[in-house]
Amino acid sequence: MLNQLTISELAAKLGQREVSSREAMQDCLDQIQRVDTTIHAFLSHDAADALAQADAADQQLASGTTHAQKPLLGIPIAIKDVLAVKNQPLNCGSKILGKFISPYDATAIEKLKAAGAIVFGRLNMDEFAMGSSTENSAFGVTRNPWDTTRIPGGSSGGSAAAVAAQECLASLGTDTGGSIRQPAALCGCVGLKPTYGRISRYGLVAFASSLDQIGPFTKDVRDTATLLEVMSGVDHRDSTSVPQPVPNYAAALNGEIRGLKLGLPREYMIGGMNPEVSAAVQAAVKQLEKLGAEIVEISLPHTDYAVATYYIVATAEASANLARFDGIRYGARVEGADPTDLYCRTRGAGFGAEVKRRIILGTYVLSSGYYDAFYLRAQKVRTLIRQDFLKAFEKVDAIVTPTTPTPAFKIGEKSDDPLQMYLSDIFTISCNLAGIPGISIPCGFTTNPKLPVGLQLLGKPFGEETILKIAHAYEQSTGWHREKAALK
Ligand code: GLN
Repeated sequence: MLNQLTISELAAKLGQREVSSREAMQDCLDQIQRVDTTIHAFLSHDAADALAQADAADQQLASGTTHAQKPLLGIPIAIKDVLAVKNQPLNCGSKILGKFISPYDATAIEKLKAAGAIVFGRLNMDEFAMGSSTENSAFGVTRNPWDTTRIPGGSSGGSAAAVAAQECLASLGTDTGGSIRQPAALCGCVGLKPTYGRISRYGLVAFASSLDQIGPFTKDVRDTATLLEVMSGVDHRDSTSVPQPVPNYAAALNGEIRGLKLGLPREYMIGGMNPEVSAAVQAAVKQLEKLGAEIVEISLPHTDYAVATYYIVATAEASANLARFDGIRYGARVEGADPTDLYCRTRGAGFGAEVKRRIILGTYVLSSGYYDAFYLRAQKVRTLIRQDFLKAFEKVDAIVTPTTPTPAFKIGEKSDDPLQMYLSDIFTISCNLAGIPGISIPCGFTTNPKLPVGLQLLGKPFGEETILKIAHAYEQSTGWHREKAALK
């Protein structure tokens, strides 16, 4: 069952010519067939194309190409339905794109392919990445592999569920306010949101351009380091990508965290936390201390304003970004009496309720008379939130928090209450507003039902090496990441 392996384990076996990439790909396809009618992580996948890519990788392996040259050679990786992969469907979990097929590869995808990956499958998501449960997809819910009556988190729920259900070796998602870290936590995988500007957003359909980042879902921290290194770097097609050198992230995974200072934000000890989640996170902090880290209490005084600030900035940007889906240029069209009628009918039929809610909110906060009171003020508060972090990082090397206040909730439990849903991101949103990197790693389980709990580590801008090093040391000393969903 090669689908059960990590990237580094499969790469070792492929390198030894012990197994072939075709066998690994076939095991993933078999697993999809076995479990995905229940899990519904995949919106679509082209088995023949995936196997053809695997055969091409096997040929390269046979002719001597190594994983030192192409770190992802022959590794099956599945993609959130918001990233452009040439000649594959691109729907963003929405009906409005109709039968749209991507004419080109996103930069991150181009880099995966250049590193030899098999890029296959479209993973379910909340429509246009708006949501925390994947229930906002136009194509049905995805189920949590640990308990199929529960949500996998969102918006990259398909990406997390596919990795947790062993349907691929790793996947890509995007994170605007927590959409990688939150589902990673709820499905028991590793998920990283890099520093804003670390990975090019070219070919990522924009939700909120100043917050969006692409990142990996993997089964361990080493694989995350590998994928991050492959995808990082400046790109002339995304002017917000940053010309910061790309380190060898895996080299940072040396287990040495002695003397590192970890900040515990006072403001994150909120009431209403699930007690088992609290206990798991507290135990994780103790474990980090045992490994030699020094725990320091810190304050991030503007934390209370993060959710409100986010829902102004993100909706404002979304209302502008989604204006392009008008029935003229892309995807589906509903004809109308005149152009305005056509736009209204197309957008009325094509967008789901949450997307409409965000466009209306975003248009409102940008409208004249309200711009200063909402949008401009939110931008100022955003700066204060970023300054909170920069100040804290003068004293500590990284910050440690729970990823989510509760484990995965039941399908339908919060769908009628958008505010409750928005609150599931309280621990992840500030990181995007500040533009800093954050990772979620498994740190235990609740009992009865057994559901994964995530630990979040936040780092300095471009401080991915430090949070990966800490995450890896923790992971190796506990082994939570090795537990697999039973998938009854
Ligand atoms: N859950 C948040 C939202 O609904 C974050 C989504 C995301 O990160 N894409 O906006």
